Amino acid sequence: MSIIFADAWLITMNERREVLESASVCVEKDRIVAVSTRKDLEKRFPAAEIVDCKGRIVMPGMVNTHTHLFQTLMKGLGDDMVLKKWFTCMTGPSGVHLRPDDAHAAALHGCVESIRSGVTTLVDFMYVHTRPGMIKAVVEAYDETGMRGFVCRGFISLGEEYGVPRELIEKPEHAIGDARKQMRRYNKPGGRIQVGVAPNMIWAVDEKGYRLTRKLADEEHALITTHVAETTFELQTAASRYGQTDTEFLSEIGFLGPDVLAAHCVHCKPHDIRILRHHDTKVAHNPCSNLYLASGCPPIPEMLMAGVTVGLASDGPASSNNHSLFQAMKFAALMQKGFHQDATILTAEKVMELATIDGARAVGLEKEIGSIETGKKADLIVIDFNNAFMTPIHHPVSAIVYSALGNEVTTVMIDGRFVMRDGVVARVNEAAVRRQAQTHADDLARRSGSEKFKKRPWRSMAI
Ligand SMILES: [Zn+2]
Repeated sequence: MSIIFADAWLITMNERREVLESASVCVEKDRIVAVSTRKDLEKRFPAAEIVDCKGRIVMPGMVNTHTHLFQTLMKGLGDDMVLKKWFTCMTGPSGVHLRPDDAHAAALHGCVESIRSGVTTLVDFMYVHTRPGMIKAVVEAYDETGMRGFVCRGFISLGEEYGVPRELIEKPEHAIGDARKQMRRYNKPGGRIQVGVAPNMIWAVDEKGYRLTRKLADEEHALITTHVAETTFELQTAASRYGQTDTEFLSEIGFLGPDVLAAHCVHCKPHDIRILRHHDTKVAHNPCSNLYLASGCPPIPEMLMAGVTVGLASDGPASSNNHSLFQAMKFAALMQKGFHQDATILTAEKVMELATIDGARAVGLEKEIGSIETGKKADLIVIDFNNAFMTPIHHPVSAIVYSALGNEVTTVMIDGRFVMRDGVVARVNEAAVRRQAQTHADDLARRSGSEKFKKRPWRSMAI
């Protein structure tokens, strides 16, 4: 069965970055088989189903290179706190009480939210393993919603002295053993869902944890993701423990490589950026989260100038507080322009690259996804720009990055299957998913003691 997305304003993100008017895309099974005119495709694929895309933009599905899906249950509970307090007072205790059924409800909701806003690939960083079955819970949510992506088996091996709840701390051998078990269970060559591994950050993982991670990734050819240089606190701990930045330390012990996706890198110095480039280590940029937690403004233009691959991300919804890459695109451009007082420093076109083809490269899937080209996987989205926010429209990329709210996505295809069609999420009951997530969110807040953040006093001034 072939499907033709016909007569669209097509943002291809191919090598020439072609933006085509009245273009059509034909999909067969899980692949894009042709990009041409409607007339040509109708002749070549006479039995194809036609999806009329007149007055619509078609573009590649976006790649969210960093989130913590379980935090979907914690939206709004951690407002106005810096990262360390946010983690030790709210997110950590919530993690302690998280059960696999909560993680599943959260992941389902996070996947639905992602699909609704045009994300077709997710990188989940799951570092709570107080009970068995957390990875399974997320894998099943990907499976049920049709999401593509990575479920990275995260871990924390120290940090009690900094307020990390003891229950979240694991022996690295145990975490790595479990990660290997999950990889062998779920990873198949070319599979839509892959398990990766994710040591948390320099102040919460010991050297052994990083070394065992590298060994595991080499043996299983798995994606590694970790937090790097997110806050000044991270840099201070790295300096006092190792006399180096975390980037320098991770390079020195042989941890970094092209299979490492480093989230944040807010406080990377020029030397750190050179190290990232040297190892072809990729960066997941989380503009909304970096601003929300007041972590800082990462040197993204400097990284791009140095040739570092940067993908875009939302971060967990406890620190951003949704999964919208539309918001991330706009914030990514605006934060750099404001910070550098230079309107040219990060363009709409570049942030569109971060959200699509560069994101695909950041997770090692640039040959499969990230652009609309013959032979690639059929991961694409349809955007209806006939609304007061996006019209009058002159330039589709500008309209998406700066004008759109994100809810203009009407149809989403992943791996050649519709996961949302004409505004209706196709494979799960969205209303039920949202109801269930609210129930789990309320219950988790009650169990973990985070309920107090729901009933906070009105605070107009600094607290
Ligand atoms: Zn994170």
